[in-house]
Parts: sequence; structure tokens; C-alpha cells
Amino acid sequence: MIAILCPYCETEVDISAEDTDTQICKACGREFSVEAQFAYERGQAHYDAAMDIERAARWRVREDSPTMTDMLRNYEHAYSSLRVALQHTLPHSYHADALTMLAEIMRRFLKREMVSSMESSYWTQRITQLTVTEEYAELQRKLEAREGNFLQRWHWRLRSGQLGRTIPELEEKIAVMEREIAFTE
Ligand SMILES: [Zn+2]
Repeated sequence: MIAILCPYCETEVDISAEDTDTQICKACGREFSVEAQFAYERGQAHYDAAMDIERAARWRVREDSPTMTDMLRNYEHAYSSLRVALQHTLPHSYHADALTMLAEIMRRFLKREMVSSMESSYWTQRITQLTVTEEYAELQRKLEAREGNFLQRWHWRLRSGQLGRTIPELEEKIAVMEREIAFTE
């Protein structure tokens, strides 16, 4: 038996080796992917390790030193794990945190030419997608709850109409990029 934290309510969930990928938390009743949860935790651990090395090293360490190699190796592990985690539906905060970590990793990889600009811009698009999807949902919520005055509601409807067109365009763009990058594990 291994224990894993439910990503929604953080209750410990016992899983056995033969358990399928999807788990239902007994405490909150929500479904989550075990693979995604492990991948996320692994990714975050490597990311934190890389950040610690980076903070300790600062500019005192040469780019080709073993310390930098160690740091980059941790960022690489973090990148591949977070990528696996993001193939699943993640709880909102995990989704946002994973993308934030990826943006930081991309910044460092781009500087060292370790990723293509296409790959880096793919993740930027994924962040934009999350932001606009959230904004859209919030506007829909406010409109349905009949919040705000006439002018505000007019503005929200206008913005919501724009986002309603942007979101599918963005999805299409992301799908095209996904095919072109052809992520493989
Ligand atoms: Zn739970």
C-alpha cells in the first residue's frame, strides 16, 4: 500500500499496486488521476531542487560547472514530469502552478537554446488559455447571477463575446502546435 494525497482535499488516500489509474477520494468523493498526481509531485520536487541550487549558486558559478549541470538536470526532470501531469485534468490550483513552473523552466531553457521557440510558445499559449477560460467563466457567472449595473453588464457581455470567439481559436492553435511538436515520452 502506498499513500497519496487527494489533490482536492489533501486527505491521504491508500492505493494498492493493482489500482487503476483513476481514484475516487473517500473523503470528498472527487475523482483524480494517480499518474497525474505522482507526476505533479515528482515535477514539483525536481523544480524545487533546481530552484534551491540556482539560489545557492547565483552568478558565482560558471555555466559549465557541475552545479549548473545538476540544476539543469533537475529542471529537465521537472519539465518531463509536469508535461505528463498536464496531459490529465488537474485540479485548478495544480494546473495553474504546473503552468507557472513550466513558464519559469522555459525561460531558462530558451536562454540556453534547450527548447525550440515553438515549444516555449506552446506553453505560453497554454497559460493564456487557462487565463481566458477562467475570465470567461467568471463573466458568465456574474452575468447569470445578474450582478453589476447596466453599464457593467454591457461591458461584461461584450468581453464575454470576444472571449467566446478567442477560446476556440486558441484551442485550435494549441492543437496544431501539439501535432507539430509531437510530444513523446
Ligand atoms: Zn479528496
